[in-house]
Formats: sequence, structure tokens, C-alpha cells
Amino acid sequence: MKLSRAFFKTLREVPNEAEIPSHILLLRAGMIKKTAAGIYSYMPMGWRTIKKIENIVREEMDAKGCQEIRTSVLQPGELWEESGRWSAYGPEMWRISDRNDRGFCLGPTAEEIFTDIVRNDITSYRQLPMNIYQISNKFRDEARPRFGMMRSRDFIMKDAYSFNKDEACLDESYNDMFEAYSNVFRRCGLTFRPVEADNGAIGGTGSHEFTALCEYGESEICYCESCDMATTVEKAACVDAPADDAEMKPLEKVNTPGTKTIEEVSEFLGIDQTQTIKALLFTTYDEDGNFKEYVAAFVRGDRELNMTKLVNALGVHEYAIEFADEEKMAQATGCVGGFTGPVGLHDCKIVVDSELPGLKNLCAGACETDYHMLNVNYGRDYEGDIVTDIKNLKEGDPCPVCGAPIKHARGVEVGQIFKLGTKYSVPMGATYKDENQKDHPMVMGCYGIGVSRTFQAIIDMPQNHDENGIIWPMSVAPYHVIITVMKHNDETQLAVAEEIYKKLGAACVEVIMDDRKERPGVKFKDADLIGIPVAITVGRGAADGIVEYKLRREADKVELSVEDAIAKAIDIVNAEKDGRCF
Ligand code: ATP
Ligand code: MG
Repeated sequence: MKLSRAFFKTLREVPNEAEIPSHILLLRAGMIKKTAAGIYSYMPMGWRTIKKIENIVREEMDAKGCQEIRTSVLQPGELWEESGRWSAYGPEMWRISDRNDRGFCLGPTAEEIFTDIVRNDITSYRQLPMNIYQISNKFRDEARPRFGMMRSRDFIMKDAYSFNKDEACLDESYNDMFEAYSNVFRRCGLTFRPVEADNGAIGGTGSHEFTALCEYGESEICYCESCDMATTVEKAACVDAPADDAEMKPLEKVNTPGTKTIEEVSEFLGIDQTQTIKALLFTTYDEDGNFKEYVAAFVRGDRELNMTKLVNALGVHEYAIEFADEEKMAQATGCVGGFTGPVGLHDCKIVVDSELPGLKNLCAGACETDYHMLNVNYGRDYEGDIVTDIKNLKEGDPCPVCGAPIKHARGVEVGQIFKLGTKYSVPMGATYKDENQKDHPMVMGCYGIGVSRTFQAIIDMPQNHDENGIIWPMSVAPYHVIITVMKHNDETQLAVAEEIYKKLGAACVEVIMDDRKERPGVKFKDADLIGIPVAITVGRGAADGIVEYKLRREADKVELSVEDAIAKAIDIVNAEKDGRCF
């Protein structure tokens, strides 16, 4: 490709809406364009990289014996009625109607469609296991689309579904996908970590997220350096503080004026935050969005509440819970903003963190303005409707497996794999006959990769960008080599550039030539911004057959003969391109 003829435009300014390096760089490099909030179009170079990522995904899936199909983005509501998710899915689903008022959605995922396809054609144990996948746009009306392709409303996902005879067979399919995912993300140049994850609304019995490690990520993971425990913060089990065998002291009400926070009350009373109880108040809703109940959750004062654990304990959807309007809740339950405790609270569901019953003589709000209770004890003074672990595992807390201090890291969830079990096959009647003609529900797994999110996450890796722009790994770079012609009207330079261009092209190297009528400074800036791995500059030396050769990821450049530069470029591209010729 010659840049003088290319549909290509870079931006000097940092676009207003972009906050993180990858999003800024993708927009500035002209790889994507924003159409509306959370909706983007891919420009030629960005699209080339997307296709390369898709191909890596295909190669790794096919290597595990999976087969690619393609289903419609439009999915009939009836299928979602069968699985029970039509009403359960919530506001992220784009629902539409056809001219006859039949309900459809733009697929946010495709368990239902795949289960429907397979239940009609697979009848015997001989046909199992089976793993089929697609790479297609998915639609989710995200509450807060942000960071470009990281959380968009229309995104590209690879979704695979395995259909298995039994749990053991599912374990094998799952392990295959675990390996395939590790290969995909390694080949894409990500620094990543697979971590145990919560199954969330999708259901099932086991799950891993693949997290690309970077400081801008929305996900937080916990890991242990002494053992191999690694999990999302949502999922991480916590070790309860050891039970206290102190005598219960008499309950006492104390005046604590203006002490609305745990910090304020513990300082005022001169007690440790671990001797206090923190209250968090919520309202939950049913599937039609009607009020369900008030919820008060209690954790030790220094702990953080874990929303995923709370939501799972309550059995509500994530979208069906929000912080309570304290004034309204006060009328119904007796809570008092900043002074709520478990004693004196009524008409609401009480969820108590698992370590509180073992702790003695704690301080909690008295449900009265400017008052707290001292010596609050579980069993004697209050009880929970639910008692379970609802706290976050914090950095430095003991590892739930081996007890060593836990570390935290941020990252981007680029993929997730799930053991679904029979959550979809039972309600949708996807069964097979065993050797004795007996019917069994298929045991399913589902496996997703955010292709467009991966595209952007690659750039956020510290090794894949610098202050001048993107540094694409060879495997996913839109082009392998950029030839920059210093003077666009110098015949000798143009002829040498053309020779290199042709020879590289003949050797299956993807090459772009910057022959635009621009100053050299502009061309160099653009070459750095778009991050092509190898740069060959044709300037004054061209008359003597000399060019400059430089790798985007290194600072040093060398002068080489034309032949040597071509040979070196071909060598490095072949060594690093890691995949088919495009
Ligand atoms: P998240 O927790 O980030 O909302 P999710 O767990 O809902 O994601 P899955 O249903 O597991 O996502 O989808 C599979 C993959 O699709 C995710 O691992 C992620 O890489 C990608 N993905 C999900 N939602 C988005 C989105 N809004 N924009 C871009 N990629 C997404
Ligand atoms: Mg996920």
C-alpha cells in the first residue's frame, strides 16, 4: 500500500473523550472512529489488526478441533423465553420488535441460539463432544460505555460453545479452551494472567477470566506469590478474623455527635476500626423493575463490601440492586443515615458478613442520630437473615489457600470461560441418547474472547506503546514494514523505495510506503504513531544504495545497504509474524 493513495488520517490533538493511552492512540493513529457513544468504526489499519487477531483466534480454536459457524445477530425472543433469560437479562439487552410485534434482540451472547441449533441435530453420544464457535458483533447497551473499544455497545466477540456427555468430558473441553486462550493471548503480545472467576448471571459451576495486566484496567485481581491462588476480587474468598472468646459486655448507648463515618466514630471513641460494624443500605427490585425489599448489609468497619458476593447471596441480578434512598428507607425500617446499626432495624433483609458472629463487643450505629451502641454482639443483640462472606479480599490480607499476604493487580478482562453444566440444555431440552438409548441433558461450556477489547488492550501493555505512539507486536501489526521516502519528488529515492517495496512484498512481507508530499518530520511522527514494527528510511544515501533501518521498539537505527536492509526485514518478520501470510 502507498500512503499517498491510502484512506489514512492521523490526529495531532488528543481527542477530548479519550482518557487512557490505548484509546487516545487508536483515535490519534486513525485506526478507529467514533460514531456514537460506545459505537465505533474501524478504519483500514485498525481493521487489518482486528482481522489478524481474529485469525489467531481461529487458528487456536481450529487446532482444538472446534468448528466455526455464523449465526444471525438477530435472535428471536422465544428462544430466550425458553431459557428464562428474556426477562432475566436486564437493560443491557437491545430489544426490538418486528413489523408483527414479535420480540427480538440484538444478540449480547448466543447460548440460546447455539443450544437450539445443536438440539435439533445432535441425538447420540457418538456425536459428542462437539465445540462450535463464531466471531461476530455482539450488542450490549452498557450503562457506562467507556474507554473506546474496552467497553463499547457494539463489539466483536468470539464465542464458542461445547456440548459434552458428562462433567468429565466438559472438563476436557474446558481445559482445551484454557490452553487455546493462553496461546491466543500470548501470540497477541499480551501480558496476562488467568484467574478464577465468578460465574455471574450466565450461571454454571466454574469459570476463569483471562486478565491482561495493566494499570488502566477495570478489573481487579488478587493473587498469591507463595501458592498459585489467583482470582478476581469479586470471587476471592476471605479468611474470617479468628473468633473472639471475650465475655459479652452489657449493651450501652453512647453519644457520638456528628460521627457519620467509621473513621470519625472510631477516632471519637478511641477504638480500632476492627471493633466497629459498618452498614450499607440497598433497595432491590424484581424482574419487572418493581420494588422488592430493603437490604442492610453489615461488615466489620475496616472491610469493604463485595457487591458480587452480596448479589449472589440475595439471589438478585446485578442490575436489580442499588444504594437505598436513605430517607425513604428510614421511614420503613428505622435506619438513620450515618448511624445505622443492626440493633433496632426492622422490616428489611439483614445480611451479615460471616466473621461478625465470632467477634465480640463491637460498636455499631444505634439507629438514632448522633448515637452509637457499644458491646453489640451477634445472637444476643441482633441476627442476620443471611450470614455469609460478603467482604473483599484486600491487598495484604491472608491468602485463603496458604495464608501468605495477598497481592492485588489491575487488568482488562479479555476473555472468560465457563462451565455451564445443564443450565441451558435442561430448560431447552438439548438431550442425547447414551449407549442404552437413555436420554441425558448435554453438559455445556461456553467460552468468550473480546476481540475488539483485546485489540485495544494490546496497546495498553507497557511494552506496546510509548510517548510517541503504538508499538505493535509483529503478529498483529497492520503492516510489518514501513518504508519512508524522505523526498517524495526525488527520483532516486523513489526508485530505491519501490525496489524495496516490491522485494519485500514478493517475500510475503506486508509493507506500506510513505510517499506522501509531507515533510520528513511529519512522516516520522506518523510512522511512530501507527506503530509499524520495522522502519526503513530512504533518504540521501539512496544514491549510494544506503538506507536506514530501525525497529519501532528500539531507539537505535543503523545504516545498511539496500540488500541487507531487505534481508534483515524479511528475517525479523518471518521470525516474529507468528501466523499465516495475509
Ligand atoms: P465485563 O465484566 O467486562 O462486562 P462480561 O463478563 O460481561 O464483561 P462476557 O459475557 O464474559 O463479558 O463476554 C466475553 C468477553 O467479551 C469478555 O471477556 C470481554 O473481553 C468481552 N466484552 C464483554 N463486554 C464487552 C464490551 N461492552 N465491550 C467490549 N468487549 C466486551
Ligand atoms: Mg466476563
